[in-house]
Amino acid sequence: MSELADKIITGNRRAVAKAITLIESSRTDHQEKAQKLLNKLLPHTGKGLRLGLTGIPGVGKSTFIESFGKLLTGQGLKVAVLAVDPSSKITGGSILGDKTRMEELARDPNAFIRPTPSKGTLGGIARYTREAMMILEAAGYDVIIIETVGVGQSEVAVHDMVDMFLLLLSPGGGDELQGIKRGIMELADIVIINKADGDFENAAGLAAGDVKNALHLMRQKSENWVVKTLKTSAINNQGIDEVWQAVCDYKEAMQTSGEFDAKRAEQEIDNIWKELNEFLTSEVKTRQKSEIKTLEKAVKDKSITPLEAAKTLYESLIKPVKKH
Ligand code: GDP
Repeated sequence: MSELADKIITGNRRAVAKAITLIESSRTDHQEKAQKLLNKLLPHTGKGLRLGLTGIPGVGKSTFIESFGKLLTGQGLKVAVLAVDPSSKITGGSILGDKTRMEELARDPNAFIRPTPSKGTLGGIARYTREAMMILEAAGYDVIIIETVGVGQSEVAVHDMVDMFLLLLSPGGGDELQGIKRGIMELADIVIINKADGDFENAAGLAAGDVKNALHLMRQKSENWVVKTLKTSAINNQGIDEVWQAVCDYKEAMQTSGEFDAKRAEQEIDNIWKELNEFLTSEVKTRQKSEIKTLEKAVKDKSITPLEAAKTLYESLIKPVKKH
């Protein structure tokens, strides 16, 4: 593991890919190796800027990331893109990974793109993403973009693991889009109206006005930052510099105020509880299979409440510990 860690620290791409495959694996021996590796890398993590990006399918996420990523690699920065797409669990296919995406960026030696892992719970995928992020930071990636589809819980999971959250919208997205927007808008540090070009140009201006009004009515997320609304045409590389400038301004404001480090520390502490939750649930599910079936049936038959079922499982889980 130490050899692999050394290679990662020098920025070796193959070593990075190998390490990510290792953390993706569900085999116990692989997981043990992965934890050893992450411990070695830990002192080298934390230097990247972690950006979350969300938007419904078709809004232009890949086009935007390609354009944004190329701007950054053009400035000599190393960029990595990871995807969180729990929809892949439900549909069996992945919204984010089912097409050839970001082809040009993928060929750039200073960019690293990894499609979403195709299985697992949201908690599991979130852990994998956090660990992949550690590997990428140790390998010297300056900006790590975590992309997710704006269709559910994944935004919150991604929001909780990044420094900054970008919401991509397109003009005239219809009612459905507005519905999604309301919940997710509260998470955004920058709202980007993409496709502000051609026939959409006027509509993009109107959408930007709507978003500004909506944001105005919302409670300010941080006292150190006023959420920005920007317009881009990812396909024409327009407005991309402004987004990067806003990202840099945000980072500076957060670092100067101390909020940047405070937020990261809070996220790390929170991760302890998330991991414990995952760990306990998976432990109960493997140890108490038959009991779970009986309790699930009892809950379905309304003979006990879900709380009682959970308590019973908890009691049997801690029983062996109590004996000592
Ligand atoms: P994703 O599903 O969110 O990743 O969206 P894509 O990046 O795949 O883009 C979906 C479609 O929108 C593609 O046909 C793109 O060419 C188009 N598109 C993306 N960005 C823009 C833009 O800025 N302007 C216009 N007019 N079309 C765009």
